[in-house]
Amino acid sequence: MSLLVVGSVALDSVETPFGKHERILGGSATHFSVAASYFTSVNLVAVVGNDFPDGHLELFKKRQIGLEGLEKQTGPTFHWKGKYEYDLNQAITLQTQLGVFESFDPKIPANLKQPEYLFLANIDPRLQYKVLQQMSTRPKLVALDTMNFWIQNSLEDLKQIMAKIDLLIINEGEARQITGESNLMKAWRKIATLGPKTLIVKRGEYGAIMFQDGHVFSAPALPLEEIKDPTGAGDSFAGGVMGYLARLQATDWNTLKQAIIFGSAMASFNVEDFSCQRIVNLSLEEINERAQSFYHLASFESDLL
Ligand code: AMP
Repeated sequence: MSLLVVGSVALDSVETPFGKHERILGGSATHFSVAASYFTSVNLVAVVGNDFPDGHLELFKKRQIGLEGLEKQTGPTFHWKGKYEYDLNQAITLQTQLGVFESFDPKIPANLKQPEYLFLANIDPRLQYKVLQQMSTRPKLVALDTMNFWIQNSLEDLKQIMAKIDLLIINEGEARQITGESNLMKAWRKIATLGPKTLIVKRGEYGAIMFQDGHVFSAPALPLEEIKDPTGAGDSFAGGVMGYLARLQATDWNTLKQAIIFGSAMASFNVEDFSCQRIVNLSLEEINERAQSFYHLASFESDLL
């Protein structure tokens, strides 16, 4: 049940209509690994600077996330500054400072080179490629996330790594930006030609939609009353999806559908507070209960006329 993730571990400065916080724990690999840690054992590959507070490392340890692949270097930790206005689906990036990620050259420790499941979380596609290249055996499933920053600045690198993966997990805007297609079915057809056999499109408060061959599955998002900060929703969604697949040791269509529900449950917890504050202290009962509420939200009798 091994799961490896490479991505950003960051200090985020975030403003939403519900509060403003400076230099809180963030990063794609952070939200991902905390969410996935409820399902399976997770190892993290990333780099932080010497300004990274020790207290944050304790949070990873508390969730038993393997930190052997987390390097500490002299320099500033990756810093993302963003805000959300009333449309919480739309993050507005104010600043991206790569810091120690700029010169990061990941060296995967020998005992982490055979994960069964690999998640290339949102980070420079060249780093995603370097990590995949170092695997001594091809993982059962390789999934990838990215964002507008990389699509805009490194599309060719992104296409190179996309050719090597099985599952692409991106949001609606990113699917359109990569393909130039506004229709999601058409975007999926183009993405399939770039490599991935399966595409999951995250649609924020409207849920998620998955494509594979001729199949399509759509999952709702829970209508939540308490949303404070959507940062990391996509990563915690992916953490739930990949964690669930690793736990069940399966990647078939039905398991993927269930995985999306658990991913959606993890994302719904993540947005209830800033940083990882809400998802760091969950119980399995809470997670199961929330996953169950998706079933009630979307199930109906299918009597015909
Ligand atoms: P999301 O799940 O899409 O809301 O991801 C939010 C996280 O992505 C934040 O905690 C940021 O630190 C991180 N992030 C923002 N921009 C980048 C980037 N260009 N590369 C990697 N991670 C980023």
